[in-house]
Amino acid sequence: MDHFEIRDGVLHAEQVSLETLAAAVGTPFYCYSAATMTRHFEVFRAAVAGLGNGDPLVAFAIKANPNLSVVATLARLGAGADVVSGGELSRALAAGVPAERIVFSGVGKQPHELAAGIEAGILQFNVESEAEIAMLAEVAAARQRPVELAIRVNPAVNPGTHAKISTGGKDSKFGIPFERAGAAFMLAAGQEWLRPVGLAAHIGSQLTDLGPIEDCIGRLGGLAQELRGAGHPVTRIDVGGGLGVPYRRDQPAPPEPHVYAAMVARATRGWDCRLMFEPGRMIVGNAGVLVSTVILVKQGASKTFVVADAGMNDLLRPSLYNAWHDIQALRPRDERITATVVGPVCETGDTFADDREMEAVAAGDRIAFLTAGAYGATMASTYNSRPLVPEVMVNGASWAVVSARNEPAAMQALDTVAPWLEPQPGATATV
Ligand SMILES: *Cc1c(COP(=O)(O)O)cnc(C)c1O
Repeated sequence: MDHFEIRDGVLHAEQVSLETLAAAVGTPFYCYSAATMTRHFEVFRAAVAGLGNGDPLVAFAIKANPNLSVVATLARLGAGADVVSGGELSRALAAGVPAERIVFSGVGKQPHELAAGIEAGILQFNVESEAEIAMLAEVAAARQRPVELAIRVNPAVNPGTHAKISTGGKDSKFGIPFERAGAAFMLAAGQEWLRPVGLAAHIGSQLTDLGPIEDCIGRLGGLAQELRGAGHPVTRIDVGGGLGVPYRRDQPAPPEPHVYAAMVARATRGWDCRLMFEPGRMIVGNAGVLVSTVILVKQGASKTFVVADAGMNDLLRPSLYNAWHDIQALRPRDERITATVVGPVCETGDTFADDREMEAVAAGDRIAFLTAGAYGATMASTYNSRPLVPEVMVNGASWAVVSARNEPAAMQALDTVAPWLEPQPGATATV
């Protein structure tokens, strides 16, 4: 469910017309609905409430949408944060996520990032290699601070999603292979300042089949039991994120949070553990759209191209993952066309939709790419020297720009002309 709908012939975000926003901030821009992300968070939290012993932690995966207003909206509702870099840790803290609700994941954490997490007093590190255990032990010892961690296990299950967002296969770079995870836990337990307290896994994103997640949870449970048998306390299990969202209105929706929660309840029955969840896409995916203006419509040899002012640098998912985004005219007419929707970037991969049957649009019309709230603005680049686009948040009848467009001068400000290229006084040009 989301709060983007046609009212009086125009697509609105909650009570605000996207045409009004387009006129105010220019296109392209991202628009987020606070009510939608709030609802998704509350539905997910209500579904998992009561699972495990104690209050489950719902740690929003910051990488899905790190905008400070997005994270602050969720933080006020009680969300924690799953961070994968020092930059995300800093954002989570700046947005008001309490340190004791922050989990730090990632295969390549560096000593300075580990140190920042320890100094902030985060809940736990999800450690992904034996080498990281050694690194964390050293950083913790230098500060004489006990550090809690979970071993991120690679459960060797195939989640059945796009290869680029599968993270739990046997040869994936993520986690410690299942067979060595118990030994890694004991290795950590032997370090003076490390306190291994749990197990974690995250097998992939945009999951639409709960079977692989259930297998993964089963494997974590078996390992937890083994470790407990050997006298190690395992008090937290982090089952990751990954629940899919509906990208296509014409296809069946992925399992709802209550169905997912019922599976988790079944798979974890009798475990005496605090459960942790790391949803990202599920919370913000359908809470955002990318609004764009049609620059022109161009007839190719056999295709009709709708050339939008948004490009692959603004929304990378179609180009990177062949991902589908529904495309909706801001002022739908009663007429349909088949068109290939592209951006202005000089790459053939800058294609949002190929031969898509869609509402008819003409130059100057505005369109919205739906379900763009997750892995949208956060993956944007300035390729082709295109400025990062603004992000706007709507809350009822109110709206605010929550990230500004970076203008060309700001982009160039980071470059410097090397001293030998500066014009020399009195020099003549040489060829
Ligand atoms: C990306 C990621 C998530 C969130 O995945 P979603 O599919 O957005 O729910 C959770 N945990 C970890 C460790 C991740 O890397």
